[in-house]
Amino acid sequence: MAEPTRNEHVALRVKLLEQLLLEQGLIADGEVDAVLDDFLATAMPLNGARLVAKAWLDADFARQLVADGSRVAAGLGMRVAPLGQPEVQLRVVANTDAVHNVLVCTLCSCYPLRLLGTPPTWYKSLEYRSRIVRDPRATLAEFGLHLGPDVDIQVWDSTSHVRYMVLPQRPEGTDGLSEAELIPLIRRDALLGVAEVPATVGGRA
Ligand code: FE
Repeated sequence: MAEPTRNEHVALRVKLLEQLLLEQGLIADGEVDAVLDDFLATAMPLNGARLVAKAWLDADFARQLVADGSRVAAGLGMRVAPLGQPEVQLRVVANTDAVHNVLVCTLCSCYPLRLLGTPPTWYKSLEYRSRIVRDPRATLAEFGLHLGPDVDIQVWDSTSHVRYMVLPQRPEGTDGLSEAELIPLIRRDALLGVAEVPATVGGRA
């Protein structure tokens, strides 16, 4: 019999783990499916992009979003925590000409999954988690984001209780665009703080 591939190994381990959790009565039958269904249907970077586009178009909404991100997201039917888990606090941190914000989880890989979808591999890497704290300017430059010496960089460390999202600056040349036209410009990396928002789809910031 052929050796199982790495993917087959992982699939087998997941299956066994699920079986054990069921046998021990720690989860009910169908519970994992329900969480996965909900995740696949609702967790996507479109949620974060919607919040940002609305904030750009409405200064009052932007103020509320920064003041109480959880409440504003909930008002649009967006949860931050996975289904079946207690809600976590959402803190939205706004970029300005003077301050650039960037996100990390130094301990593990906490991430606003429901607002940004699945995290990129680099976000979970030990290299990113240590280097973005030690030398954020050089690390961001490696992402292609070159910030001047006059810009302060704030690194926000996620925890099990607080998830962050960056409110990027609206690019010049996008005046007059509607929410639907702005949303495709707002990609995951800008919401994590490792990129700026380009003025055109596929364009450079
Ligand atoms: Fe974490």
